[in-house]
Amino acid sequence: MMHVNLLLDLDGVVWIRDTPIEGSGDAVQKLLDHGFTITFVTNNSTLTADGYAQKLARMGVVASPSQIVHSGHAVGRLVEPAETVLLCAGEGVAEGIKDANGICIDPINYSGKLTVDAVVVGLHPDFSHDELNCAIRAVLSGARLLAPSSDKLYPTETGFVIDGGALAHAVSYATGAEPIFAGKPRQPMIDAVNERINQAKVDFVIGDSLASDARFAAAMGIPFAFVRSTAEPPAPNPAGAPCRQCGRRSRIRYHERQSECGCRVFRRRQSRTHLAGHVF
Ligand SMILES: [Mg+2]
Repeated sequence: MMHVNLLLDLDGVVWIRDTPIEGSGDAVQKLLDHGFTITFVTNNSTLTADGYAQKLARMGVVASPSQIVHSGHAVGRLVEPAETVLLCAGEGVAEGIKDANGICIDPINYSGKLTVDAVVVGLHPDFSHDELNCAIRAVLSGARLLAPSSDKLYPTETGFVIDGGALAHAVSYATGAEPIFAGKPRQPMIDAVNERINQAKVDFVIGDSLASDARFAAAMGIPFAFVRSTAEPPAPNPAGAPCRQCGRRSRIRYHERQSECGCRVFRRRQSRTHLAGHVF
């Protein structure tokens, strides 16, 4: 029997925040039961690897923490041993910094007088305006600005909320410092994945984001399977041109990755592939 290795995204593929996507848990467990090797790769770092394994278990998927690679693991690769890191991010980032033998500083214990080597800005449930200001002060004092992911929006059951990439850009805008992103599609995440499984042995990357998952797959030279969910928000584009296939014009598009009529298309080997029908 052919052995298949998959890299599978979580948000927008297995769940929308805390709500399972109907049928996804069963489908993933069936793949595991049929001998597929799945490594879950997420740009989310609100939980530790153990936390994600427990969340998967609640959705009927039996996975060990060793099968989880989150963006906290990736950002940990940007931290040197004994460096002090202001943690304006989730539990997963704390795990990654600990794995790198860095020292986490809680924003509650931070004053502008304390110098830190780096600050990590990422999505977590308790992110606050005060935390944003701590991050800004740290950067103005010379800390490197690190971010688990560059994702702008995070899909929830009630719509999109701001994601860690946009929070990091807020700090960047205020300070002029360029954020260093670690998650998909960037090299630290590729390196973190290769610690678990050789990318040459991976058959497919599966995800719901063209900006992070598809580019991640392309960066590793691995075929990509697109799961259509809510993770690709439309952007206004009043100057849309008609779709090659249907001729319709659209008010929205996904930048260069969506045809102007609203049909999802992307360029691959000089040809346009129609992935799905109209968004609206
Ligand atoms: Mg996703």
